[in-house]
Amino acid sequence: MPLKIYTHSDCLQHRLYPFFAEKPERLLSVQAVFNEMALPIVTPAPVDPDTLRRIHDEDYIGAIKDLSLKPGPLRIISGFTNPYVQWYTHVSRGSYRAALQAAGAAVHAVSDVMNDSCRRAFCAVRPPGHHAGPRHGEGFCLFNNVAAGAVQALSEGAHKVAIIDFDRHHGNGTQDIVEQRLNSSGQILFVSSYQQGCKYDHNHDRAVNQGWISDSVLTIPVPEGSAYDYLDKAYRHQVIPALHDFKPDIILLSAGFDMHKSDPLSSIRLEAQDYHSLTSLIAGAADDVCGGRIVSVMEGGYDLKALAECTRFHLQALAPQGGYGKFRRNFRPSI
Ligand SMILES: [Zn+2]
Repeated sequence: MPLKIYTHSDCLQHRLYPFFAEKPERLLSVQAVFNEMALPIVTPAPVDPDTLRRIHDEDYIGAIKDLSLKPGPLRIISGFTNPYVQWYTHVSRGSYRAALQAAGAAVHAVSDVMNDSCRRAFCAVRPPGHHAGPRHGEGFCLFNNVAAGAVQALSEGAHKVAIIDFDRHHGNGTQDIVEQRLNSSGQILFVSSYQQGCKYDHNHDRAVNQGWISDSVLTIPVPEGSAYDYLDKAYRHQVIPALHDFKPDIILLSAGFDMHKSDPLSSIRLEAQDYHSLTSLIAGAADDVCGGRIVSVMEGGYDLKALAECTRFHLQALAPQGGYGKFRRNFRPSI
């Protein structure tokens, strides 16, 4: 069973302001990696409305669509004044379509992994998703892609789903959706390791500021300036045992690569190969508890060269024994 890539050229049509770090070139940089590795590419359908309504309020979804369809000047004004999306996350003409495809990629990948079409999947998508909450978009995120994947896993018969977020930023939107929408019966374990005190650190001002903040939410703040050894210890001593205890049917990853030492948004000092080590730890646990099933969904990572290198190491660690499969189709999008 091969590792497959899920991506769509519409994801290039979400455009923020030119000076922002989240840009279409990020997708092109990882495209070069999976073409070089001859990985099979799947073109997903957009996320279906029912799945989207499980994780976001209907008026929020409608607001993103309406903003996307407004004429340019009105859209820019609305971008600063609407109550749904933080101004610098920005909604462009292609953003709604891109966001539907990004969430659809996670849904399609989860469906394929749950049905043994492949054991591992990587969704190369933008906009990213883990800051998008039930009724609010921020941090470059509009729809929560990994949460859509979790909904799909539960509908495909998974009893338990683990979401591991190793982006540099706390997965606040995912945590809100898990706590408010998806976890009434404890079917989801959410883990987020992130740079302590970063903008989206919801625990920053709370008395309880790290570790288990509920039975199903584990947050691991990583001190500024840390190297991989800090993360390695945290994953070996907390995350991997939690996965063994929880015994999910599938593991979803919010795969952000912005803890790399070259990333302009990070003060963590990871090397590119550290993403191989981290992914291998999680993949080993997946082999033990859920038949190896992993769907990884791209989140942050803003230094283009580092993003490509980190993704290469991540994919090499995700690739199951026995190669990548016999099918190859190059992804040649145009901006
Ligand atoms: Zn991030």
